[in-house]
Amino acid sequence: MRRRVRVRDVPIGGGEPIVVQSMTNTDTADVDATVEQIGRLERAGCEIVRVAVPHVEAVKALPRIIERISIPLVADIHFDHRLALASIDAGVDKLRLNPGNITDSEKIAAVADAANEAGIPIRVGVNAGSLDERFRDAKHHPTAAGMVESALHEIRLLEERGFDRIVVSLKGTDVRMTIDAYRAFARESDVPLHIGITEAGTAWEGSIRSAVGLGVLLAEGLGDTLRVSLTGDPVEEIRVAYEILRALGLRSRGIDLRVCPTCGRTGIGLESIAVQVRGELGDIAESLSIALMGCVVNGPGEAREADIGLVGGRGQGTIYLRGEPIGPAIPEDRLAGEVVRAARELLDGSGN
Ligand code: SF4
Repeated sequence: MRRRVRVRDVPIGGGEPIVVQSMTNTDTADVDATVEQIGRLERAGCEIVRVAVPHVEAVKALPRIIERISIPLVADIHFDHRLALASIDAGVDKLRLNPGNITDSEKIAAVADAANEAGIPIRVGVNAGSLDERFRDAKHHPTAAGMVESALHEIRLLEERGFDRIVVSLKGTDVRMTIDAYRAFARESDVPLHIGITEAGTAWEGSIRSAVGLGVLLAEGLGDTLRVSLTGDPVEEIRVAYEILRALGLRSRGIDLRVCPTCGRTGIGLESIAVQVRGELGDIAESLSIALMGCVVNGPGEAREADIGLVGGRGQGTIYLRGEPIGPAIPEDRLAGEVVRAARELLDGSGN
């Protein structure tokens, strides 16, 4: 089992549930915009949030951000270790250091000592794109082995200072290389793993690449915390993260929507019903399964397995509640509303 590290009150590793994190894309110095985005991330289920700290203005904003949010805050540091020291003074809950661009062992030692004194962890965040030249291959390309070597080198530097509250990430855009790096690292060390595919893309391709890469790792038991990196609103990262975790039965949050793909038998506008149900129940934090099925071929079976089901007929459908059909068939135009109402009632405890 991996060692357990605490980010304020959130444990990572040690067999704890996999922690979902994200990163803001606001200007960190813009406190209002950053706090607003973190608030939306929190409500979506984000458990740790990271902000870029590229300059002193961002450091100055940190205390004002911290006092207005409730989840732990991580300062993302590149190039300048003094920003790490200042972020620790500003009260952050964790640091992310890139061993590819802060390489001086004395500077790393200074950060380790300060983080030790503050009692906060450090993520050694290796990225293929910024891998230290010393760990690249003869043609200057990053490799999985090089990423692992870079991480182990940095971890040794930290541990030589008596610092062991370490998390590691080994992210690349190449999904196979990233998987290989995490597998190889996991054989060498018990440091907990922050997993992710970086520069994955917009929500469409980024979700697929992340699901493939993280899915393989998670299915092998690798991964103690994760970030799905997507270009766009980071709230989408949280939704995708939970969907990946749900697919593997590792965590669940919100509605688990199962919808038949529709075919020539479908007699209702199932896609628009599904879109409406997802949209109206997107705020739910509790776990609730909903099966929306086009006809009686697979409909009753799937509807019985879900908390709420819908089995379509020609221009109408039957709602199921906890496996049993309820009431007479409902006209198509009221089906989405009735599914939403049944879901809300079930969550309120007024469902039968
Ligand atoms: Fe077609 Fe019915 Fe299967 Fe949906 S459940 S894909 S409508 S056969």
